[in-house]
Amino acid sequence: MKRIIAAAGLGVGVAAAALAQQAQSPMSVPAGLTLGSMSRVSPLLKAERTHENFEPALVLPKQEQTAQAKLEALFKKTGKRPNILILVVDDLGYGDVGAYGGGESLGAPTPHIDRLAREGLKLTSTYAQPSCTPTRAALNTGRLPVRSGLLTPKLLNDTADVSSETLASRVLSSAGYRTAMSGKWHLGEKDGSRPWQVGFDEFYGFLGVANAYQEEHPSAPDVVNDPELLAELRSMPGDRNLWRASKDGGAKPVEKINWENSRDLDEKFADFSEDFIRRSVKAGKPFYLSHNFSKVHYFNMPSKGFVGRSATKDVYRDSVIEVDDIVGRLTHLLEELKIADNTLVFFTSDNGPEEDSYPESGVTPFRGAKGTTLEGGVRVPGLFWWPGMIKPGRVSDGLFDMTDMFNTSLVVAGVDPAKSVPADRYIDGIDQSSFLLADNGQSAREAVYLWNADLFAGVRWRYYKMATSEIRVGSGNVRDFGGLDNAEVVTPLNSFMYNLYLDPRERKSILIEKAWVPSYALGPLVALHGATMAKYPPKAKIRFR
Ligand code: CA
Repeated sequence: MKRIIAAAGLGVGVAAAALAQQAQSPMSVPAGLTLGSMSRVSPLLKAERTHENFEPALVLPKQEQTAQAKLEALFKKTGKRPNILILVVDDLGYGDVGAYGGGESLGAPTPHIDRLAREGLKLTSTYAQPSCTPTRAALNTGRLPVRSGLLTPKLLNDTADVSSETLASRVLSSAGYRTAMSGKWHLGEKDGSRPWQVGFDEFYGFLGVANAYQEEHPSAPDVVNDPELLAELRSMPGDRNLWRASKDGGAKPVEKINWENSRDLDEKFADFSEDFIRRSVKAGKPFYLSHNFSKVHYFNMPSKGFVGRSATKDVYRDSVIEVDDIVGRLTHLLEELKIADNTLVFFTSDNGPEEDSYPESGVTPFRGAKGTTLEGGVRVPGLFWWPGMIKPGRVSDGLFDMTDMFNTSLVVAGVDPAKSVPADRYIDGIDQSSFLLADNGQSAREAVYLWNADLFAGVRWRYYKMATSEIRVGSGNVRDFGGLDNAEVVTPLNSFMYNLYLDPRERKSILIEKAWVPSYALGPLVALHGATMAKYPPKAKIRFR
């Protein structure tokens, strides 16, 4: 009882104070808040902290033993650490994929992606950040974007700097992996922050985002029909190159990207990824390949073979079919080379659908879209496929945060995450290898924290979600539509709280009715999160409301 009262004392008010105090004074640690296990503050919370600078995780010894035994048996059989292939689509909606209710029902079947679900593990609560750069930062570093300072995507001349971060690619390259990034980077253009400078042995792709290079796309008559403006826009400083780089061969710009040649970028990235996989197998080395699609970020123009392939014949759905085809090419290659059973494949999207570019946009069953911390902005497809290692046909609503891919990749590769990063930085990721590999594995993650760039936005625990702030589109009517445009930050009197199982579209706040949830679980979780920010000052100056 005493513990419950103590936990109640660490409720939302104190949580707010903890983060607010931190926002004003990065070095101050709120009184009474020290880093420890979740169970210390509330009997409802179970996660344990094994290292002070690592996010607490649920302790699941039985499934951890099973996973380790599976990995050891595989290593004994193959003599090699497993390959890791990460497939990141840009702006793909949760609901675009057949396995998540889209596909055929939207006129754009996704059989190759659906196969990963049917033969692997389908997660229904995979969380990204609200937009491109922060998600890619989380995925590569295992750290929330406020900690790495990589908060918002830029068009051209992006000064984001990831060079002082430890990327999974850097750790794995040192551990004997061949590492490559194919496609979109969006973690900074500047010298020192480029993929080949931060741990990728090879890179073939561009440094920013497709629409930054597509000024002359036909739906922009204000630019296309104004040659002077077009010339001015094209003269803006920034990198528009398609790059080819390797550790041994140096880095070379291959060509400048424009509207016309952008249609074939994803086919070129697929060619590169196929070639990289073949060369890695030939060299007898395990690989870590991050394959990042340019599609289906606006402005899409499907490669010629995919024009008109969808029922609606529109550029977005045709491009979804192209993405699905490439997923098929890469997974079939793993089978052809007989390495599918020694390759962990993860398929995801970097944020929710971009509704600002409707009708060139995806679908989500949730409220909100890209740019928001509503479920529609951050809940993305998450599929794991590893024949022989992941039991086919599994579905789980266990929580998975994009940062978890950092720890999970390292553990699968036989590397200890705690020994791979300097002790002065906080890692938000959790090792989820046992969740994936044990037949009935449970997620080791107790909570997902939501951030809208530098603004703390809330936390999900079990099926409860508390939003300390929310981005509302238009007047908030359920028929309102959009994401980054026509949006405003709403700060509630109390926080909003939703039961995501009863109310997946986050329409009715139930914070007062279910006051025990914020008092004993969500509030303490926020307070502990604030304490980690105080102990390990983030690179970004944070805001709480
Ligand atoms: Ca994106």
